[in-house]
Amino acid sequence: MSFDLVLFGGTGDLAWRKLMPALFQAFRHGTLPSGGRIIGVARDALNDAQYRALIHDRFDQVELAKRPSEEEFARFAALLHFVQMDLSKPQDYARLAANLRERNADTVVMYLATAPSLFTQACEQLAAAGLNSPTTRIVLEKPLGHDLASNRLINEAVRRAFSERQIFRIDHYLGKPSVQNLFALRFGNALFEPLWRRETIANIQITIAEDLGVEKRGAFYDQTGTLRDMVQNHALQLLCAIGMEPPINAHADAIRDEKLKVLRSLKPWTAQTLSQHVVRGQYAAGTSGGEAVPGYRQEPGVNPASTTETFVALRTEIANWRWAGVPFYLRTGKRLAERDAHIVINFRPAPHAIFKSPPGATNQLVINLQPKDGLELHLLAEGQENRRAIQSLAPVQLDLDFDKRFGSERVGAYERLLLDVIDGRLNLFVRSDEQEEAWRWVEPILEHWRTDSSSLRPYNAGTWGPSASSAMIARDGYCWSEEC
Ligand code: NAP
Repeated sequence: MSFDLVLFGGTGDLAWRKLMPALFQAFRHGTLPSGGRIIGVARDALNDAQYRALIHDRFDQVELAKRPSEEEFARFAALLHFVQMDLSKPQDYARLAANLRERNADTVVMYLATAPSLFTQACEQLAAAGLNSPTTRIVLEKPLGHDLASNRLINEAVRRAFSERQIFRIDHYLGKPSVQNLFALRFGNALFEPLWRRETIANIQITIAEDLGVEKRGAFYDQTGTLRDMVQNHALQLLCAIGMEPPINAHADAIRDEKLKVLRSLKPWTAQTLSQHVVRGQYAAGTSGGEAVPGYRQEPGVNPASTTETFVALRTEIANWRWAGVPFYLRTGKRLAERDAHIVINFRPAPHAIFKSPPGATNQLVINLQPKDGLELHLLAEGQENRRAIQSLAPVQLDLDFDKRFGSERVGAYERLLLDVIDGRLNLFVRSDEQEEAWRWVEPILEHWRTDSSSLRPYNAGTWGPSASSAMIARDGYCWSEEC
């Protein structure tokens, strides 16, 4: 199968840090279909040789194991081409059209790795140039808008040019091997399904913690914030994967229908829950990895009086028969104590205790997403820790380390997703109605924050966020996993 992958923004950060290394890994492992071209597009005046040299140099900044040897790069570089064009100039699209028509590949992928402000115009002009035939797929990067209205405008503009089955909205969390394993755990095994409900589960905690600050993306981040950057998309997609009903099959729409139902079942916000169940934080100076680091307001590109959040913790519920009354806690932020993404399913204690067990000890299923990838099942067992006591229980842990079982060099998220786009598989991509529903649900939080600046709470870099986050979960009688 021949393909042309057109990378708009082909000289940008996303292209050289994530997309090119992912495409190279697929090429190295022989999974990238042969007979393909990767066409970088940007306004810079480059020819193919200069573009190949640019990408070659950028690979120096990629981790060693994922860097090509000179011989490998020479073979990979033969796929790389460049078309100079300005997406805001209608006349430039003809040059791209001529280039693509010359080859007439079986599949054409248009990957918009540029600022979203260009999406609407790009789609209109691609259609006007006849570059939206049914064999064309379009890939959209986040952020798709900054609220429900702007998200709708982009989606409507894209749908005027492409049908929904041609549109691949990336949420790279869905490409992570650990998230696919979550689907496998729930829908490939019968073991947990009878337990996956309110009668047996006390609460669920989803944590996506980063130890880094905003790095060089201060200006972008200050306009965006954690709610838009992480909660509206990644955290809610994880919540859907945990909370959804089993789909009738593994087809994209069957999966997406079930995720949509979860988003529609999220409890609507009230004035009371907005003030008690949402914590907004911003990091102050502190230490990270043993080094002193500046606060958010001192980062380059950030307004020194910024009220943008770098941390969000919230409590919600899925209002349906399976989950009614079970709190779902979501927490994500920058400059936290460590880089760690995991989901903890806390089961209810045994209904009648006949053994002595440590206070608060219950069964837990921990799904590690990053940097570890695997499952831990926490049980209580007779540990004989006290030689005189009988039947005194102690926590034990069953570890299923996927890195050990399947090797640590798994198919990366972008590699998986790019191959899926080329093959036309939509399962791991987000449908527009899911996205709109997620925006609809986070909008009251944004609105509340607009009128209540007092809710912004500072936390020291290198900690687990503001104390209000612990207080929120403690009100229900629970604690975050690292506190218990
Ligand atoms: P970037 O480094 O600023 O790159 C932007 C790219 O777009 C450059 O190649 C630029 O090249 C090109 N470009 C800009 N205006 C253009 C125009 N009018 N016509 C044609 N090309 C144009 O940005 P980025 O970090 O790669 O991010 C791109 C998008 O992906 C953003 O929406 C971002 O939010 C999203 N994203 C980025 C990351 C990441 O890790 N970087 C992660 C997730 C999502 P010229 O200036 O030479 O034209």
